[in-house]
Amino acid sequence: MLEHNKEQNTSLLREWCGKIETANRNNIFCHCRNCGYEWVDSSFGVVCSSCGSQNVEQISCWQFPDD
Ligand SMILES: [Zn+2]
Repeated sequence: MLEHNKEQNTSLLREWCGKIETANRNNIFCHCRNCGYEWVDSSFGVVCSSCGSQNVEQISCWQFPDD
């Protein structure tokens, strides 16, 4: 019984880690320093879809302060 619960917790934890990972992947705030275009992307190293500039500032959403 105890072993079973432990297994369940581990898989639940893995599931959560995966969800957080996915959230991080899909919530990178991007700001083009060239034209000021703002969007949310899923990966780093993107090019501005508005002007094609690579001068893009990228911030993971979880890094935003609360206040
Ligand atoms: Zn741009």
